[in-house]
Amino acid sequence: MKDQIKTLKQLQDIDVRIFAFKDEEQRLPEELKQELQALEDCKSVLAQIEADLKDMQVSHKEKEVVLLTKEEHIKKLQGQLYQVKKNDEYRALENEIASTKADNSIIEEEILKLLDSTDEKKQEAQLKRQDVLDAETELTAKEAKVKERVTQLGLEIESLGQERSKIAANINKEIIDVYERIIQSKKDQLAVVRIKDSACQGCFMHIRPQLINEVKLGKDLILCESCARILYIDEKQ
Ligand SMILES: [Zn+2]
Repeated sequence: MKDQIKTLKQLQDIDVRIFAFKDEEQRLPEELKQELQALEDCKSVLAQIEADLKDMQVSHKEKEVVLLTKEEHIKKLQGQLYQVKKNDEYRALENEIASTKADNSIIEEEILKLLDSTDEKKQEAQLKRQDVLDAETELTAKEAKVKERVTQLGLEIESLGQERSKIAANINKEIIDVYERIIQSKKDQLAVVRIKDSACQGCFMHIRPQLINEVKLGKDLILCESCARILYIDEKQ
């Protein structure tokens, strides 16, 4: 039995490696997908900034047109000032000129503010554009790396699988069945565990001396009474 468990331990060591490689094989494309999503999000933000910028430019043009129209109106009114004869008509024209001028200074103020925020937006767009470019470059490099690693993992897994078959051929079918049944219920992929300081190294619970003796005897397959893993012990203990 001791030899069987020793071989089973070798099998488990291979299984642990296969498990880790398969996990990596699955994880890498997932990570890539997340980074691709992050890039798409970055592009959406950039598209929004560019749309805002366009709106601002349209709004600027509209305000310039209004300003120009009002300035022409002022010129027209100023021309009329020399034509009117009555005082009250003159005052009315003066009032209208003053109020249109006041409107214009508000519009000019708005245009200045708009130009400031357009400048800020342009800088924001430039930074975001650089972010998108950087992310694209990074992603292309990572894609190539992942592809290479996944190919490599596939080969490793295949080679370990062959090694596993050879080892498994030297273990009794019933023992392998017990081992595989245990592994299915354990997240850590450990079915064969050592006894150290009278404790199971799978669940760290204390093991009765009698059970330890049975493990040392090596006649039967002994399972931990707490976690049901297969127990073995280093002969020194
Ligand atoms: Zn245990």
